[in-house]
Amino acid sequence: MSQFVVDPPVVVTVPVEGGGQFPVRRILCVGRNYAAHRREMGGDDRDPPFFFAKPADAIVPPGRDVAYPPRTENLHHEIELVVALKSGGKDVPVQKALDLVFGYAVGVDMTRRDLQAAARDKGQPWEAAKGFDASAPISAIKAWSGPAPQGRIAISVNGESRQDAVVADMIWNTAEIISEASKLWTLAPGDLIYTGTPEGVGPLVRGDRVAGEVEGVGALSFTVV
Ligand code: MN
Repeated sequence: MSQFVVDPPVVVTVPVEGGGQFPVRRILCVGRNYAAHRREMGGDDRDPPFFFAKPADAIVPPGRDVAYPPRTENLHHEIELVVALKSGGKDVPVQKALDLVFGYAVGVDMTRRDLQAAARDKGQPWEAAKGFDASAPISAIKAWSGPAPQGRIAISVNGESRQDAVVADMIWNTAEIISEASKLWTLAPGDLIYTGTPEGVGPLVRGDRVAGEVEGVGALSFTVV
């Protein structure tokens, strides 16, 4: 007989290329980790990147459509490299950080840009702008060891290029992101980190066909419904 007084949450999973499921513990995200995107968002060139979070159940596994969320008239795409952790720790030095990596995926940090602007103007938290239902579409995870991906990161909408950059342009590289996160939180297996988006973020509407890729990692595509 279960002790739970209501049904416990289901473990959210992301498929791994070649078989198996990666269980998602939580989702950390990096904001303003590409200089050109920081500028398009009106940021100061001296401001370092920072973290925010989404709930694990914001994940949309590959092959699913993405529902247009409520309470926004300006839903934006942000294509991102996603890091999946196989181990954790705190105060992880940069030189050891990549040892925590299980693999990488392609993700989209869906953003209710109008709610983000309103929150920013009032000094309020970003949860409603970033951590909503279905706000974290993701590809299958590719198991990986060695140097982190550095290549092309791109997204198109209805066949038209919107964002096209290289991961090597990140302000904090993958090892630095993991190390910085581990100074703020104890990392653990199952953590995902969305590593930030390059310039060219823009709106999505119902019916849009979205296709994203990170060179060497994979691709994802979905329709906004
Ligand atoms: Mn983002």
